[in-house]
Amino acid sequence: MSISNNHPAKAKEFVANDERMHWHDKALWFVREKRDRASKSIPEWEQLRNFADQIKTHTMANLDKYLLEFEKNANEKGITVHWAKDAQEHNEIVHKILSKNNVKKVVKSKSMLTEECHLNPFLENKGIEVIDTDLGERIVQLRNEPPSHIVLPAIHLKKSDVSDTFHEHLGTKKGNDDPTYLTRAARASLREDFLTADAGLTGVNFAIAQTGGVVVCTNEGNADMGASVPKLHIACMGIEKIIPRLEDLGVFTRLLARSATGQPITSYTSHFHGPIEGGEMHIVIVDNKRTPFLQSDSYKKALNCIRCGACMNTCPIYRRSGGHSYDYVIPGPIGSTLGTFRDPKKHKTLSFACTLCGSCSNVCPAKIDLDSQLYTHRQDLREQNIIDTKKKLSMQMAVWLMSKPTLFNFVGKVARKIVPLLPKSLIYNKFNTWGKQRDLPEMPKKSFKDLYKEGLKDV
Ligand code: SF4
Repeated sequence: MSISNNHPAKAKEFVANDERMHWHDKALWFVREKRDRASKSIPEWEQLRNFADQIKTHTMANLDKYLLEFEKNANEKGITVHWAKDAQEHNEIVHKILSKNNVKKVVKSKSMLTEECHLNPFLENKGIEVIDTDLGERIVQLRNEPPSHIVLPAIHLKKSDVSDTFHEHLGTKKGNDDPTYLTRAARASLREDFLTADAGLTGVNFAIAQTGGVVVCTNEGNADMGASVPKLHIACMGIEKIIPRLEDLGVFTRLLARSATGQPITSYTSHFHGPIEGGEMHIVIVDNKRTPFLQSDSYKKALNCIRCGACMNTCPIYRRSGGHSYDYVIPGPIGSTLGTFRDPKKHKTLSFACTLCGSCSNVCPAKIDLDSQLYTHRQDLREQNIIDTKKKLSMQMAVWLMSKPTLFNFVGKVARKIVPLLPKSLIYNKFNTWGKQRDLPEMPKKSFKDLYKEGLKDV
């Protein structure tokens, strides 16, 4: 039986450090503003979003055809394609390839799929060393933490935290938190790893059915090093990474970096179309509970995600509660909908970590209806009777009251008079969790209904 995660409790831990919470909020808002400037610099931005939506929706409707086309073309280029139905099978396939090649050390670039499959602990248990080579990922790996963001894995950490971590693991000078110094130390250590690794493992941003090749976008060039120095390259991808044609790629690369970090393009957009000379290339295509999304009218668009992270950067809840509070491999709005669909009991609090402001859907380059999905999840949870009892009772009371207009008007009238006279302790106490971080607004003199009627008279 799965144990439920508890977003409000984890968020409470995060906001306990007020300074960090505000700093985290500002750091992500800064990225969101960069995204705004980058998107506004392209007049055809909305047209690109429409294309992305159409290409992805078409691809998902014809996924079987494109996956098989991809496999055929990849095989022709000397790439071995493997199919994994779930995380366990994925990990076993990767392990089998590594053991066959007598691999003792792997350098891995950022891949949320391998996080989802818990590949690192699986391989480490089998005696294979895995080094995450994306700087942010390496920092969280050294700290034994999961990433807190899909593009900025260590965004929850300050440079002083990184300095302490590097001092402990890489022997940097204690207290030196100069970012250039720290980055150079990480680079020197990673160089050594690249040169001594027996295999490189990468994620996949886009897999092109027409060519049978994969595209990996990074800002640090670490995927390129990992896929070029060792002779063995394994690329792991979910079934949803397929795009039909090479000419579709431009739509996504133009959207991806601008949405993610506000850059016109990622520093390295590398195409891998076969093994390096004398080497081997494998692609592992994983389902792991993706297919059920295709059968769901409400949630299938969640598979259109290109993992840019923009919905996280803009989300007022994510910015103020941190990625770890979601307790799911992908945090923020997209993680909340993916997680709740996959395991509603375990992730029953996630769809409520949302103000329904709709900002996530507005910035999403693939035009995923994130806020609608989260709203629909709440109704599904209620129907499946896995909603919190307190929440259920308060909603039932609200429904009861709102269905009795005379009583509702009366209660409103009384509340407007009484609430301002009540002592604070009666309003803000342990039973009022809503009031923990919020103040009630001043009670209005008139109800909305009264004001509306007066307005009508004026008209
Ligand atoms: S849901 Fe949209 S905004 Fe969020 S990560 Fe995916 S593509 Fe980006």
